[in-house]
Amino acid sequence: MTYKKMRYIGFSLITFVSLVLPWITVDGKHFFLLSFDKKQLQLFFTTFNMSELWPMLFLLIILFLGIFFVTTLGGRVWCGWACPQTIFRTIYRDLLQTKIFGLYKSVDNKQKPIAKGKWIQKILAFLIFNIFAIAAAADLLWYFIPPEDFFVYILDPLENRITFVVWFIFTTLIMASAVFIKENFCTYVCPYVRIQSTMLDNDTVQTIYDPVRGGVIYGSDKQKITGNKDEGECTRCDACVRVCPTHIDIRAGMQLECINCLECSDACEKVMKRLSLPSLVRWTSPNSVQNNEKVKVIRFRTVAYSIAITIALVALLSMSTTKKSMILNINRGTELFHLSKDKANIENTYKFKFENIDSKEHMFYFEVLNPEITIKTPSEPFKLRVGEVKSKVVILSTDINSSLKTQNGKPLPVTIRAFATDSKEKIYIEKEAAFIYPKADSIR
Ligand code: SF4
Ligand code: SF4
Repeated sequence: MTYKKMRYIGFSLITFVSLVLPWITVDGKHFFLLSFDKKQLQLFFTTFNMSELWPMLFLLIILFLGIFFVTTLGGRVWCGWACPQTIFRTIYRDLLQTKIFGLYKSVDNKQKPIAKGKWIQKILAFLIFNIFAIAAAADLLWYFIPPEDFFVYILDPLENRITFVVWFIFTTLIMASAVFIKENFCTYVCPYVRIQSTMLDNDTVQTIYDPVRGGVIYGSDKQKITGNKDEGECTRCDACVRVCPTHIDIRAGMQLECINCLECSDACEKVMKRLSLPSLVRWTSPNSVQNNEKVKVIRFRTVAYSIAITIALVALLSMSTTKKSMILNINRGTELFHLSKDKANIENTYKFKFENIDSKEHMFYFEVLNPEITIKTPSEPFKLRVGEVKSKVVILSTDINSSLKTQNGKPLPVTIRAFATDSKEKIYIEKEAAFIYPKADSIR
C-alpha cells in the first residue's frame, strides 16, 4: 500500500473520530468538554468544576510529553499524517481544485501554478470548501459547547451572539490557512516546526533520500551538481520534487519545510518500480541509512518519554475514576461555642458550602457520625441543581451533660458525612470538623 493511501485512511479515521466524539456521552458526560458556559471540564466521562482543574495540568503534561515522544520517534509525522492543516489542504487542493474541478493538472505535480481563468470552477471550489470549513469549525466548537447545546443556541442567534462570533472566527481561520496561507503555514507560521529540530536525533525516523544508492545530487554548498548522471540509481526525473507540497527537493537532505508526507517516496517508488528497484526516498533514520541497520526505536529518550507518559496517564485515570460527585467545604463560625437558650445543650456553628458537580440535580443532606452530636439546623434536605453551590449555616448540638466532663475544653473531632439523598451510597463525601466544648467549671 502506498503511503498516500495510508495517509488517506488515517485522515478519514481522524475526521470520523473528531466528528463523533463530541456526541458520545455516558450519563450526560462527554469524553472531553471544556465548557466555559457551565464552568466545568468533562474528561473521560467525569465532570470537574473550575475549582478542580488539575486534570488540565495532567492533560498538558501528557500533550507536551506526547509531542516530544512522537517527534523523537518519527520527526514531523504529526504534520504529514494528522495535522488538520494538512487534511484541509488535501481536501481543498487535491480533492476539490485538482480532482473535481481540474484547476491543477495532477496531484503528482504541485509546482505548476493554478490554471488561468476557470473562474466558475475556482469559485465553486472555494464555496464548497467553505461548507467544509463551517462544519470543521462547528466540530471544533463542540469540544467547548456540546452539540446538544450548540444546536439549541444557533436557533436563537440574537441571544447567542458570542457562539456565532467564535464560529465565524474559527471558520475564517480555517479558510485563511487552507486557501490563502497554504503550506506557508507549515513553514513559517506553525511554531512546532521551530521546536521540533531540537528533538530530532540520528535515530529519528524521517523522510530520507538515500545518497549511497541514488548518488549525491547536491554539493556541500547546497548547489545542485550537474552532470555525473551515471553515478547512482537516481534517474533525475524530478518526480519527487514535482509532487512535494512544500516545494523542496528531499535529495538536498533533511529540511525544516519537510512535513513527512512521504509523497516523494511514493513518487520515487513508481519510478524505481520500472527498474525493479526500491524507492530511493525512504521513511527511515539517518543512522539506518548510513550503517544499513534497522531503525532503533527503543533508546533512552523514547523509553524515558514512554514511562513518563504512562505514569501521567495512570495518575490521571485513577484520579478521574475515584473522583467525587460533590464538594463540601466546612468553615467554623466566629464563636467557639454557645449554650442553647434553655442551657441544656452546647452548640457549635459552622458554614457548610455544598457543590453539586454531578451531571444531575439531587437533594442533599448530611449526618454526623458521632452519636453524641445532633444536627439542630438545617432540619431538611435541600435541592442543588447541576453545578450549583449553596452555603448553609449549620448548628451542631450536644447535651451539656454528655461529654462535658471528659472533653473539658478539649475539641471533639467529628465526622460529617454529606450525601445525595437519592444516591446515598454513590454520591457522598466525608469531612472532619472540630466540636468545641467549654471547660466544665466555666459552665457551673
Ligand atoms: S520532501 Fe517529501 S515528505 Fe517532505 S514535504 Fe516534500 S514530499 Fe513530503
Ligand atoms: S523520484 Fe527518485 S529517481 Fe526521480 S529524481 Fe527523485 S529520487 Fe531520483
